[in-house]
Formats: sequence, structure tokens, C-alpha cells
Amino acid sequence: MLTFIPTIYQIMHYHRRRFLKQAITGAVCISTGNTLKVLGNNFTLPPANKLKLRVAIGSDGHYGEPKTAYEQRHTEMIRLFNAEKADRGVDFAFINGDLFHNDVAFFQPMKKHWDTLTMPYFVSHGNHDMVDEETWTKTFNHGWHYGFENKDIGFVVLNTADVTGKYVSPDVEKTRQLLQQYAKYGQLFVFMHITPIKWTTHAIECPEIVEMFNKQFNLKAVFHGHDHDQDSVKENAGKCYFFDSHISGSWGTDYYGYRILEVMENGEILTYQMNPGAKAQVNSRKLT
Ligand SMILES: [Zn+2]
Repeated sequence: MLTFIPTIYQIMHYHRRRFLKQAITGAVCISTGNTLKVLGNNFTLPPANKLKLRVAIGSDGHYGEPKTAYEQRHTEMIRLFNAEKADRGVDFAFINGDLFHNDVAFFQPMKKHWDTLTMPYFVSHGNHDMVDEETWTKTFNHGWHYGFENKDIGFVVLNTADVTGKYVSPDVEKTRQLLQQYAKYGQLFVFMHITPIKWTTHAIECPEIVEMFNKQFNLKAVFHGHDHDQDSVKENAGKCYFFDSHISGSWGTDYYGYRILEVMENGEILTYQMNPGAKAQVNSRKLT
């Protein structure tokens, strides 16, 4: 399992014991998951008082897509996120790309919806978000590549599309710099709209990015949107890549869902996919 060679930079930032613990457990993607497929509520959540951080993750609202009930879908997903906050708590929401559908006229009306969340939220840029980075930055206070910290946990957001909707690899230098900047945290999560490994029809190959992920010892999981028909997990080199179905849009899983990420005080990580219509978890995965 000791498949990476830590850089001097990483060693400098880590107490030796903490580093050894990460080295031993960091690359393990333990499956409790697909055996927990449920039709009802038979999935037991850890006690809420052991939670350190809880994130609600959705993607692909496609606000403005013709012949879809995008207004209704947004109102409903925001209601669900706000209910999650009132219930078990949500520190922030993440909307993982394709927030609106091609026409920039839908950009600000879409944001007005999300602004009614009762929690802070962050976004990634998707291929249908056809607006320039300057306007995006003015609106969301972040560019297309950025990072943030919450409760001593690192989060890095990468871009996978240009302004015309063409799929692109995240900027390699910006990614390298962000991964290095956030290497000091014990746990790191990445959000990017399009998956960088060609395991779905709509994926793109980003070998340099994947190579960096493989070596990033504190990277615990990568979260994607884009593939509306994917709602589970794929694995590469001990790293987990999660999907979350879709908030709206004309195709995908036969339900509109979202994903929850829970980080416990003891460092355990749990993520599960919700089918709110069935009031059930679709799948779950524990990470260490
Ligand atoms: Zn989409």
C-alpha cells in the first residue's frame, strides 16, 4: 500500500506519527457500499453528535433547459438541502457543475434560487455553464480553480470545460499548486464536474491530473457531476470517484438525487447517495 514517495514538502508539514498513519491508511477505499443497497430506510447512520463536518452535494441542475421542470426541480432540491440542514446539519452545500443550461440569461435567475439555501454553498464550473470566468468570479467570488478549508479539512475545486462547453482537462499548473497548498490538511476532497478517467461515455482522459491524485496522500475522494446516469463510485489506484445522479435535466437516473458527505470527529468518512423520492439511501461507502 505504500505506493507513493512523499515529497520533502509533505514531510515538513506533518508530524511524523500523523504522517505514518496517513501513509498506512490513506490509500484504502473500504467498501461497505454496494451490499447496502436498500429499498427502505434500513441504513443506520452514525450518531449525529460524532459528526465533524457534513456536506450536501448535488450537480446538474441545468437551469433553463427546455422541456424540463427546472424551476420546480430547483425549488425541491433547495427544500431538501434545507431540510437536511435542519435535521442532521449541513456545513455547506456543493453544486458540482452544469448549474444552468447554455443560455447566459439563466445564470443570475439560477443563482437567485441557490441563494435561498440556509447554508453557504460552493460551485464548480460545468460544460453547460457557458459564461466567461470573469463573470463567474464576480458572481461566486471564486474562479474556475480554487480551494477552501472548513474545520481543518481541505477542498479543491477544478475546472473541466471552456466557455464554449468544450471538455478540457483541469489546468495542470493550477491543480498542482492547489494540491500542494492543501497538502497540509489531514483530509482533502476534490470537486470537478467531468471525471478524468474514461470509464463513462462522457468522461475525458486527464492522465496528468490522475497521476497527481494518485500521489496526493491526503486525497480521500473526488466528486463528479456530468454523468447524470451515474450515482455510485468508481475506483482507481485506491482513490474513490463518486457520482451523484442529477438535480434536473432531461436524462439520467430515474430519480433526482443528491449525495451526502459526512466526516466524523474520529476521522472516519462516510458518503451516501440519497433518493429523496424513496426516502432512502441508494448506496453508501466508508473511507478511511
Ligand atoms: Zn449535466
